[in-house]
Amino acid sequence: MATLTLQDTMTRQPQPVTAADGKALRFYCCGPTVYGPAHIGNFRTFLVQDFFRRVVELGGLKTKHVRNLTDVDDKTIRESQAQGQSLNDFTQHWTERFHADAKALNLLEPHVEPSAVGHIGEQVALIETLVEKGHAYQSDDGSFYFRVASYEPYGKLSRLDQRELKTGAGETANDADEYEKDNISDFALWKARKPEDGDNFWPSPWGEGRPGWHLECSAMGLKYLGDSFDLHSGGVDLCFPHHENEIAQSDAATGGNFSRLWFHIEHLMVDGAKMSKSLGNLYTLADLEAKGSNAAELRYALLAGHYNSKLNFSLDRLAEARGNLQRLANIADALADRAGKPGLASYDELKKRALKGKGVEFGPFAGAWAALNEDLNSPKALGEMFSTLKPLEKADADGSLSKEDAAVALDGLAAIVAAFGWLLPDPEPAESEIEVPTDIAELAEQRWQAKQTKDWPEADRLRDALTEKGWQVKDGKDGYSVVPL
Ligand code: AMP
Ligand code: ZN
Repeated sequence: MATLTLQDTMTRQPQPVTAADGKALRFYCCGPTVYGPAHIGNFRTFLVQDFFRRVVELGGLKTKHVRNLTDVDDKTIRESQAQGQSLNDFTQHWTERFHADAKALNLLEPHVEPSAVGHIGEQVALIETLVEKGHAYQSDDGSFYFRVASYEPYGKLSRLDQRELKTGAGETANDADEYEKDNISDFALWKARKPEDGDNFWPSPWGEGRPGWHLECSAMGLKYLGDSFDLHSGGVDLCFPHHENEIAQSDAATGGNFSRLWFHIEHLMVDGAKMSKSLGNLYTLADLEAKGSNAAELRYALLAGHYNSKLNFSLDRLAEARGNLQRLANIADALADRAGKPGLASYDELKKRALKGKGVEFGPFAGAWAALNEDLNSPKALGEMFSTLKPLEKADADGSLSKEDAAVALDGLAAIVAAFGWLLPDPEPAESEIEVPTDIAELAEQRWQAKQTKDWPEADRLRDALTEKGWQVKDGKDGYSVVPL
């Protein structure tokens, strides 16, 4: 069986994706900040993580997937206050919207979806451990900071040198100015209560306040996946400082190796710039639906590029996705017909087979599956898939496809569709199944006769008449067919 390899950010090498405990792949994904609708750039990251999980599970390895909700930070507090809502009501609303979009995009639900506000106690306990071990200190205003100089390997993920650390690379001017700290690269573990926090503070042994952003992922990762787990993922922007800080806090507290592998997804761009709220160039799923697209097309388009490269978004990609999904739906239907089967097996059925050790059959799509296992190479997998489809479509059209071949191809195609998590539209009827109204059939026949007598103007006129009525004539070598436009 193929083993998936991924480009690991820590070692900058492809690494096999395996479960250290021999049972389940334990992985953590930094989840959304629920202070507004997630944009399709955020969803690129969540979709690739979902695709990753599907490939792992179809390969026969169980997973434990944790993805958090960031429901407290400066922006979230500020926005909830601006809306005159409690933090809880505000984040609840955006969490529901996130779940609805995620469902429409066919994202598998994580096994655990913990929230930062639900884990204040765990975060306080982690700070206590860091204080005890000499990695954290308190500033004059009562906040706590992680002392970066106390953790020698700091910077190992992003490979920053000391010079960059001293100038506080990645910190915003705000972060650097707002709090008093000994060194510019030290980061907040606990922020003492300030008047502008309103009602949003929690008790701790050091008085009221709230945890810093980086801490939540460490506390929840350690709680649900253990001191040392298999893989941690997020968009590339999280590599520094967020993931670097997560490693420092977690390993300094436990002495373990927080995550063995690091999986970062490149950004979705618009006109060469990162899609982000601050640049005002973002789309949400609802924006695209208003333009006549849908979640299935977005899913296809966002997974078609390799995760390790930037992907430039355009509406053309959605149109292309629509055509490809239709093509897949049509051939899946044709294969099922020939094989005498009801249709494609579902992801759940295939996953069950795979996890029982029965293996999933890829048949003529083995090349596409192999490409997916080489660093989730989706462009290569799509290329392989379409070159497998072409002769199948041809054999179906000329009637030379056997029942046995169709059945094997149907199983393989189901597995590829399940790995990408595509949602297919209804198939278009095959040409032979199209019912052509008599008036249309007559016009088409008259046009064919005009063509036989080389009366080109008349043939063109009749073609236009058919177009006007919503039909298209397709000429072949020895005849013609009519299909709806
Ligand atoms: P946030 O809700 O801002 O915490 O981000 C959620 C996830 O989306 C994180 O893993 C980010 O790294 C990722 N992300 C943010 N912007 C983009 C983008 N333009 N393309 C891909 N991923 C992104
Ligand atoms: Zn995180």
